[in-house]
Amino acid sequence: MSNTSPTLAQLEQKDTFIRRHIGPGKGEIEEMLSAIGASSLDDLIEQTVPAGIALPEPLKCGEGATEVEALSELKAVAAKNKINRSFIGMGYYDTHVPNVILRNVLENPGWYTAYTPYQPEIAQGRLEAILNFQQVTIDLTGLELASASLLDESTAAAEAMGLAKRVSKNKKANIFFVSDDVHPQTLDVVKTRAEMFGFEIVTGPAEEAAEHDVFGALLQYPTSTGEIKDISDIIAAVQAKKGIVAVAADLMSLVMLKSPGELGADVALGSAQRFGVPMGYGGPHAAFFATRESFKRSLPGRIIGVSKDTRDRPALRMALQTREQHIRREKANSNICTAQVLLANMASFYAVYHGPQGLKTIAERIHRFADILATGLTQKGASKGVALKHSTYFDTLTVMVENKEDVLAKAYANGMNLRSDLDGAVGVSLDETTTREDILALFNVILGDDHGLSVEDLDAEVTTQAVKSIPEELVRTSDILTHEVFNKYHSETEMLRYIKSLENKDLALNHSMISLGSCTMKLNATAEMIPVTWAEFGQLHPFAPLDQAVGYQEMIAELAEWLIDVTGYDALSMQPNSGAQGEYAGLLAIQRYHESRGDSHRNVCLIPSSAHGTNPASAQMVSLKVVVVACDSNGNVDLNDLRKKAEEVGDNLSCAMITYPSTHGVYEETVKEICDIVHEHGGQVYMDGANMNAQVGITSPGFIGSDVSHLNLHKTFCIPHGGGGPGMGPIGVKSHLAPFLPNHTVINVETAGKNCGAVSGAPWGSASILPISYMYIKMMGSEGLRRATEVAILNANYVAKKLEGHFEILYKGNNDRVAHECIIDLRPLKEASGVTELDIAKRLNDYGFHSPTMSFPVAGTLMVEPTESEAKYELDRFINAMISIRQEIAKVESGEWDATDNPLHNAPHTLADICDSNWNRSYDRMLAAYPAPEVHRNKFWPTVNRIDDVYGDRNLICSCPSIESYVEE
Ligand SMILES: *Cc1c(COP(=O)(O)O)cnc(C)c1O
Repeated sequence: MSNTSPTLAQLEQKDTFIRRHIGPGKGEIEEMLSAIGASSLDDLIEQTVPAGIALPEPLKCGEGATEVEALSELKAVAAKNKINRSFIGMGYYDTHVPNVILRNVLENPGWYTAYTPYQPEIAQGRLEAILNFQQVTIDLTGLELASASLLDESTAAAEAMGLAKRVSKNKKANIFFVSDDVHPQTLDVVKTRAEMFGFEIVTGPAEEAAEHDVFGALLQYPTSTGEIKDISDIIAAVQAKKGIVAVAADLMSLVMLKSPGELGADVALGSAQRFGVPMGYGGPHAAFFATRESFKRSLPGRIIGVSKDTRDRPALRMALQTREQHIRREKANSNICTAQVLLANMASFYAVYHGPQGLKTIAERIHRFADILATGLTQKGASKGVALKHSTYFDTLTVMVENKEDVLAKAYANGMNLRSDLDGAVGVSLDETTTREDILALFNVILGDDHGLSVEDLDAEVTTQAVKSIPEELVRTSDILTHEVFNKYHSETEMLRYIKSLENKDLALNHSMISLGSCTMKLNATAEMIPVTWAEFGQLHPFAPLDQAVGYQEMIAELAEWLIDVTGYDALSMQPNSGAQGEYAGLLAIQRYHESRGDSHRNVCLIPSSAHGTNPASAQMVSLKVVVVACDSNGNVDLNDLRKKAEEVGDNLSCAMITYPSTHGVYEETVKEICDIVHEHGGQVYMDGANMNAQVGITSPGFIGSDVSHLNLHKTFCIPHGGGGPGMGPIGVKSHLAPFLPNHTVINVETAGKNCGAVSGAPWGSASILPISYMYIKMMGSEGLRRATEVAILNANYVAKKLEGHFEILYKGNNDRVAHECIIDLRPLKEASGVTELDIAKRLNDYGFHSPTMSFPVAGTLMVEPTESEAKYELDRFINAMISIRQEIAKVESGEWDATDNPLHNAPHTLADICDSNWNRSYDRMLAAYPAPEVHRNKFWPTVNRIDDVYGDRNLICSCPSIESYVEE
């Protein structure tokens, strides 16, 4: 070493993000390579990935930028968005995100890095928040049973149609009626869904619903243009003919309106966006969905239910069909997997924070502003050709004007957006953020500056005249949100502590690694998250004119270009807002393509037995028949069976859905052959992109030969899982499928198909989380992205190698290598000892870990996916925990420990166990709670003991339990 100081140029060397994202440092990578017997990362990749699929060239995603550079560049792009005051409505409203929720939930990794609560003992916090969401839904809709969020209002409406078909007693009917006053994007999405189900959609005035022979009908309340009508007679008339009635409703208006349940609806659904979730150019937001108790087995999506733990204390868990697509596959109610948990939680916290009285005040103020606006427009409008279309309304006025274009232009010039898609009228929707100045500005725009109106005078008139803009019979008289949780935390201090108390119950990535195979729980870097809550991205309405969204369009286009490069496809759609929605959109494109070639008879989808449950569930949504292809003893698709099935199906083959590397965690050598066989029979290849973390920069679906894939941006591209959503599932396609990508009825998507209906409510799905993936790619660059894949493979192989001799690794590929994940086979141990995979999963909690994926894709196994973000220290800690658990199993096996009186069977251990003065187990408390030395440094306490699933499903409770049930304890 020289004794001179470093030069400035040396000191200026970029602090690259790559080394922050990738867990193991240089030295650790060397150590791990030598532990698995590879000389370099290149050597490992050569040993692992079949030569025939290696990309000949590096990616074209540029050079990695530093965090500082990337943030400042994206800030400049974001600044090109023009934030107008939005009065567009149509299901999206401005809202004040309570700061205590913004910072402590939306911007808090304790909330946003958690996974779907499949391990409820370490997820009671978010389970409680979602249960609160269900309670808000139940109270406001007046129905009995609510689900834990769907993707958006439009897809929730499509799910309601599916439910109607399942439960309607009018079995022969094939018509679904949609009233002509629902939001246009809702009709669009419902039509797309109906097309492939083979349902006929009839639209018309709501009053005509019962004139048709329908299995169901969709109404909207208040209507898209703002009118409030008593729809109870219409509902009854449809039901008299055995049709099911779904009502799309606005959550804020329901605070003041008689509920859909009270009007007789079978289903109520809508968006919870305006409960404190930014518009974000379309999402993510949670949709709510409620129905009758008797339809509980037909409900789409997840439900949180109350059960009890082994100490008989109340404990929450996902109920009933929670894993339904995994179990029921193509018979599942829907393909919903990732939903909108983080946003549902935000909305539920909004209700907790404001409480019933606060919400009433907010709703009444919005409504008062609407009354004031309506009164002013009526008084001064007549002479100017301005008139209100409806005399009833909550917050939305449809204002008939003589020259719509002039009014819109004047609004734009004044930094305001009005609804623009109505004939001879503009729409004005008010919201929580509306001010007196806004009302005056609206008068100026609609009536001209000389209107002479005063908000205060109008308010006095409205007050004394008791304006009846909500029909008397539709005023809510029932109470809402009477549960204690909504009446307790109204000071910020109390709210902060409530949020924190729930966060403390949950294990998220800020505590330890979550090695869920197939889910890719990697770093969600802070620099990636920061832009999400910039106003430039948060406050845009999805239907704002494109010239106000230049920054968004630029960011989306650049991200699309990178993703096209990464996937080796030709075109991309950002519309699907989850992986499963991407599957649906991709299969839809395939079916539209076949139809365009006169091949509408192609209706069979080949799916290997190892596939994720969403694959067959999605196939069902486009009316494909699923034929299962066998896997061989190495876990690979059985080529002979594939050939045989393809031949049997013959001309009816639509497509095959494969996952690569397979869900068994290996790079199949024969993947190109699989594609060839399918193509030879005229089929298309859908490659599930969930395992892209083992492909990026090394190979690609397009290069391998598939035709379409979804990407789970919330797996490979760093969008956090949010405790069960949000996600984004854009699809890439080869050029021949590009004309069949989903478009949008309100905003034309230039890169989409011409006459293709929408699959989501917003044209670019959940656009406001795209900056996360953008930042990731920008900071990693081509080299970093490839390096991430290499280290993901290294980490998985390191875990597999280190567990050798203790556990069986079920499947291996070339040279005994696994891909980016590996499956630990626990069946032989269960056979020998009686210790189950569930015992092991729960015992891992005692060691401070979340369990890996359990029993997928093979029952009785755990699938470990460490990802590239975990350093060697954390991998070793996990490996040591697993080896220690193996030694514990040996004690059960040998009879040294009793079959049930042992720490595996009784896991996880809670403080209640350890402090129990009646502790009478044959093992000691220290072993129970601190089974490894590292645990002392960072103990995580599960807050409930093992939960009784069967009890919970037999005694289904999906609302907040009464206080007494907690007090008993
Ligand atoms: C996660 C996953 C999906 C579904 O994605 P969602 O975003 O949860 O809808 C599909 N296939 C595989 C293999 C997956 O791991």
